[in-house]
Parts: sequence; structure tokens; C-alpha cells
Amino acid sequence: MDTYYFDNGATTKVKQEVLDEMIPYFSEEYGNPSSIYSLARNAKKGIEEAREKVANLIGAKKNEIYFVGCGSEADNTALKGIAYSKRNKGNHIITTKIEHPAILNSCKFLEKQGFEITYLNVDEKGFINLDELRKTIKKETILISVMFANNEIGTIEPIEEIAQIAKDNDIIFHTDAVQAVGNVKINVQEMKIDMLSLSGHKIYGPKGVGALYVREGIDFEKFINGGHQEKNKRAGTENTAGIIGLGKAAELAKTNLETHIQNMKNLRDYYIEEVQKNISNIKINGPLNARLPGNSNISFLGINANDLLLELDNVGICASSGSACTSNDPTPSHVLTAIGLNSDEIKGALRITLGEFNTKEEIDYLVQNLKEAVQKLRL
Ligand SMILES: *Cc1c(COP(=O)(O)O)cnc(C)c1O
Repeated sequence: MDTYYFDNGATTKVKQEVLDEMIPYFSEEYGNPSSIYSLARNAKKGIEEAREKVANLIGAKKNEIYFVGCGSEADNTALKGIAYSKRNKGNHIITTKIEHPAILNSCKFLEKQGFEITYLNVDEKGFINLDELRKTIKKETILISVMFANNEIGTIEPIEEIAQIAKDNDIIFHTDAVQAVGNVKINVQEMKIDMLSLSGHKIYGPKGVGALYVREGIDFEKFINGGHQEKNKRAGTENTAGIIGLGKAAELAKTNLETHIQNMKNLRDYYIEEVQKNISNIKINGPLNARLPGNSNISFLGINANDLLLELDNVGICASSGSACTSNDPTPSHVLTAIGLNSDEIKGALRITLGEFNTKEEIDYLVQNLKEAVQKLRL
């Protein structure tokens, strides 16, 4: 049976061009980048070119990019790294209720270490309130961390306004942009972003590699101690092939950005229209504008989305539900809870996240099967 993949918010398929660039670094250019012979110098050179490509994608300088093990590590490093380096200045951090667990659980860890965390509310579309943010700031505030775009409902937060508020108050601003990079135009200089997390496997690169951008001049405590890699900020022999793959994925994302955004929006809007035409008793979650181009989240009322996922899996369709990341975890989504959905709406929420490999024909197949599955489950 063919696979119909509509879960690009969970991970993406590695592009052939990305894979082609990575392969030689496993068994030909296998030198340790820290060694001094020419074999190692090739690996080192590849890493530095990848750093340049990642920097270019987000408008950063090359020396502001640190390669890490994943998006989660970038988030952990940003939060804990600033918390520990700025603890003399204050112990207060502001974030939101709808962050990824990599942020929320880092915050929980820091609370146990004596830090105070404020979790901002969001409105029914998932946007934070800038006045609430302003009022929450106090002299002990050292960091504001607000995600660029939400992974469940696609909401794109008012990042430039948040960054300006942080700057006016001399507070560092970090954004988890793992979902936004490659799907939204980002320039950290123009947007005044101080720190940003991104991940390879969400942008058609490999899993197990990410990057943290840190504005020049901002110090942070290192998270992995050891050798002197990554300017002595992240020890461990570099994941050379992974970094090369992330670099290539970043280069392609930059080249394709505008057409990619338009294609994703067209497909997504087509999907939503077809669902509206074919299936009754639904609720569309998240905003219509200021939304990730490939993201849709729709509640099919009166059914359990996890049952729906099983029906869809029987016909080769991969999608995601409104419960937590792990499918056997019955905890309702903290994001859908925060935007005020009732338990039936949360239970029936289906996330479809489109990617570059999806076609209109696949959407037709999806909607047809969705219609049949919903009918069956509502009997
Ligand atoms: C996927 C994701 C992460 C985690 O990235 P990994 O590379 O899987 O660790 C963090 N934040 C958001 C918003 C994500 O979507």
C-alpha cells in the first residue's frame, strides 16, 4: 500500500539532494573535524559551509550559529544557558502556555532550581497578549521565550513586537522557531531576535541535528561539557554528516521559500474547503491568517481522533491527533486546552500538516477517506 504522509509537523522526509551531500561524510570524509590532517580539514570545511548556509537562512552571522543535537537541545541550551549565566541579574523567565515540551519541561526543571516562570495565556486563536507580556515584566526578568509558530495549531506569534518589548526592557528574547524556519520568512537582525532554535528534521534534513542562533555578545552557560567544539559551547565530536545535511536543507529552504509558502497555503486551503464541503459538524482550530502555511487543525465533533487515526492508517494515511505527542498518552493537548476548546473538541482534533511532497490528488484521497471514516465512527 502507498503511504500518504500528512504529518510534516512531526517530521519530514529527507530530500534526495540533502542525502546525496551527506553520504560522502560517513565513509570518505570521515576525519574528526578537530584533527589537523587534510582528511579532517575537509570535514571541518564542510561544517563551516553548513554554518554559513544556516546563518543565511535566518539572516544571522556565521559565528552566531551553534550546532547541537536536536531542536530540543537548542531549547534546553537557550533556557538553561541564559538562566545560569544571568542568575546574578535575576531569576524570572517569561514564556507561554502553548510552548513545545522542550521549553515547558526545561521551565519546570528551572522552577525546581529556584527560578520563577510566568506562563502567558493565549487567546482562542493561540495569540499571546502583548499588554499581559508588558505587565508581567519585572526587574528580575532575564529572559522571554515565545515560540515563533505553534506546532499544533500553526499560530504565528507577533514576534517583532515581542522582540521590541524585550529590547526596550533590556531582556534577552529567545524563540523556538523549529516549526517556522523554512515556512516563514525570518530575519533575526531585522526582527531583533536574540536567540533562535531550529531543527534539521522539520525542514527536510536529517534527524538528530539542530542549531541554536545566539546574537554576538550574549553569553550563555554551556550545556554539554567536554572538548572545545562549537567555540567551547557544545562539546562532542561533530555530527558531521548531519550538519552537512542541515546545511543543505537550509540552503534549499532559502531558495524555495516563497514558492513553498504559496504552494503550502494553496494545498492547505484546498484541504479545508474540501472538508467543509464534504463533512458536517466540524470546528476549525487556530487562526485563518498569521498561520503556518501547511498547518490545519480541525475537530470532528462526536468522535475520538485517535480512532480516526487508526481508520486512516488502514488506508495508508499518516496524520496526528490533538492528544500529546505519544499516541498512547491520554493527556489532552495543553495547546487545545489553552485556547479554550471543550473536551469533545479536543478529543476530535485532527492535525494535518502538509509538506513539499504532497499533491492535490493526495488531498482528494485524504478527504474521501476522512469522510468515510468519520461517517463510520459517527454511526
Ligand atoms: C519538533 C519540535 C521541537 C523539537 O525538535 P527535535 O529536533 O525533535 O528535538 C521543538 N519545538 C517545536 C515547536 C517542534 O515542533
